[in-house]
Amino acid sequence: METDTITAISTPIGEGAIAIVRLSGPEAIAISNTVFKGKNLSSVASHTIQYGKMIDPSTNEVAEEVMVSVMKGPKTFTREDVVEINCHGGLVSVNRVLEIVLSQGARLAEPGEFTKRAFLNGRIDLSQAEAVMDLIRAKTDRAMNVALKQMDGKLSKLIQKLRQELLETVAHVEVNIDYPEYDDVEQMSHEIMIEKTKIVYAEIERLLQLAKQGKILREGLATAIIGRPNVGKSSLMNALVHENKAIVTEIPGTTRDVIEEYVNVRGIPLRLVDTAGIRETEDIVEKIGVERSRQVLKESDLILMVLNYADELTNEDENLFKAIEGLQVIIILNKTDLPKKIDMERVKKIASGFPIVETTLIEEKGIDQLERAISDTFFEGEIETGDLTYVSNVRHIQLLKQALSSLKDAMDGMEAGMPIDLVQIDVTRTWELLGEIIGDTVHESLIDQLFSQFCLGK
Ligand code: GDP
Ligand code: ZN
Repeated sequence: METDTITAISTPIGEGAIAIVRLSGPEAIAISNTVFKGKNLSSVASHTIQYGKMIDPSTNEVAEEVMVSVMKGPKTFTREDVVEINCHGGLVSVNRVLEIVLSQGARLAEPGEFTKRAFLNGRIDLSQAEAVMDLIRAKTDRAMNVALKQMDGKLSKLIQKLRQELLETVAHVEVNIDYPEYDDVEQMSHEIMIEKTKIVYAEIERLLQLAKQGKILREGLATAIIGRPNVGKSSLMNALVHENKAIVTEIPGTTRDVIEEYVNVRGIPLRLVDTAGIRETEDIVEKIGVERSRQVLKESDLILMVLNYADELTNEDENLFKAIEGLQVIIILNKTDLPKKIDMERVKKIASGFPIVETTLIEEKGIDQLERAISDTFFEGEIETGDLTYVSNVRHIQLLKQALSSLKDAMDGMEAGMPIDLVQIDVTRTWELLGEIIGDTVHESLIDQLFSQFCLGK
């Protein structure tokens, strides 16, 4: 294997207590050794840390006090020899160390190149490499856990299992094609294929469902409260915030006029979006028309539509219903302490199957039922966060969707009595798509593109 030795600063740039310059490649130890005053790094035991001084070869003076970790391949992240030079965290000092190792023949690493080497050397598969990237970007503990599990190879193992199932069916068909005289093989291929594709189909569907739930748990449900003036929107917002611990109130880095209130409803973070657009929904339809308000509202995962129980339905209510057609809606009939005036038949008709919850928000009554409706809408039964292997990566989700669709083609084909060697094409395609998740069948250019998204030094 012919590779050069790469290097980069692998801790975040800034004023940390320490910073690390990492080297990986055949010359990692030799290069470090030429500028290190202390023990001979070429002869120290692998996976040990050495204290010493770094010499600037241009002046022969001590440039830095350092701790150097020496790790010999293949038991390293890249499977190559790796050296990590720990130095003071200041920008000047870490850059000086980097320049010194560059002057000794190391090459500055491209973004993601360490992880790319780990992948190319078979240390990790592609989904694990992407998990490293997700880990770097993870904002919450939950997102971190998902990435960690993925890095651990949980998703890879599951994907491999599914591919194995598909491969078995393909093998059977091959036997069948090679020995057409065996009728029972033909019979069996068909049965096995139906059975296996069903299993794999259900499993991919489950992964996608979990992906959706994982996204909700990580990012929260963007929730918009809408309704005409005075129906009780503010009361609902207050009741939700009052009954549930608010998680975060402001997201740093967002503009002042987009303030988001997070509340925790049975483990589901609701992001009560309070953007200018949605806050103004009291007359949003009137102001900007049904189509455009649809556009604004479409960004929401959940619409809480408040109606006044003690008043007739108005045109404004009906217009709002038009604007939220096709979205995920829960209808709240508020002010049930007052005499009923609303036409329930009509409400049920335009609600078209959405849950309807009755509340008396002035007394904070009905919030429990509303919370149950929310939780039932997005999570059937209990939320299990413990052992779930959430798929969180957009590329993986895309591939799973494609795999599901090509498997559907195969199943439809079988149903329609298509010859099995034709059905097999779709099964093979599914197998390939799943392979792309773990990097078995991916194109080199895709690999380059993926790794270039990494931060430097990873
Ligand atoms: P918004 O304009 O939709 O935000 O409505 P608000 O939450 O500001 O409420 C409008 C008025 O209705 C306020 O005076 C509330 O006190 C009152 N209100 C809210 N919920 C109820 C309820 O359940 N019963 C009664 N009787 N009044 C309510
Ligand atoms: Zn209000």
